[in-house]
Amino acid sequence: MDNRHKGGLRPRPSFGPIGAPGVGQEHGASPGGAALDSSRVKQPAAKRPSVMQSPVLVLNATFEPINVTAVRRALVLMLKGVAQAEETNHTEVHSTQKAIQVPSVIRLLSYRHIPQQSRALSRKNILLRDRNACQFCARAFPASEMTLDHVMPRSRGGRSTWENLVACCYTCNNRKGDRTPEEAGIKLQRRPRPFTLHTSRQLMRLIGHRDEKWRKYLFY
Ligand SMILES: [Zn+2]
Repeated sequence: MDNRHKGGLRPRPSFGPIGAPGVGQEHGASPGGAALDSSRVKQPAAKRPSVMQSPVLVLNATFEPINVTAVRRALVLMLKGVAQAEETNHTEVHSTQKAIQVPSVIRLLSYRHIPQQSRALSRKNILLRDRNACQFCARAFPASEMTLDHVMPRSRGGRSTWENLVACCYTCNNRKGDRTPEEAGIKLQRRPRPFTLHTSRQLMRLIGHRDEKWRKYLFY
């Protein structure tokens, strides 16, 4: 009983230096204050590493999903007043001042312009976009067993662009040769597209497929 009582009162400042922003500002110049802060941080960080690293979906002010971050970072954004929790899980973290429900989805309070993401056109990113699946036979392979295919062959003027490059297994690549898919009698699984926010959203969907609370936002 006594233990339980103590446990309930024990401060658990789980989110580190941001747990006491006011203190940090007021006593920032004081070495004593800084030392106290950092000694408080270590204890809970060791206690709940997994919760603080759990993924959190970040929405723009318009509810459009834009990113995935960790609980720790999400709490910083919330405490700064930059974001608010839209969904929480049933865990709480404790700062020196208050208990906060661990967010599962947060939303930025003011709209942030997200530039049209143009990821570097690279073999790695093409494989990532196509999820290591041959775009002709649909089978997945290790990266080492894949090549890139120019849908319209280079010899026929096909360019190295997002829209003309696909992940391809060696078997299909040999079969296709210097022909178009139509000429070779094979079919593209889907039209290749640039790796954009849309693609990123698909990846978020994969990351968040275990978290039911993400779903309604991911089909934005
Ligand atoms: Zn194939």
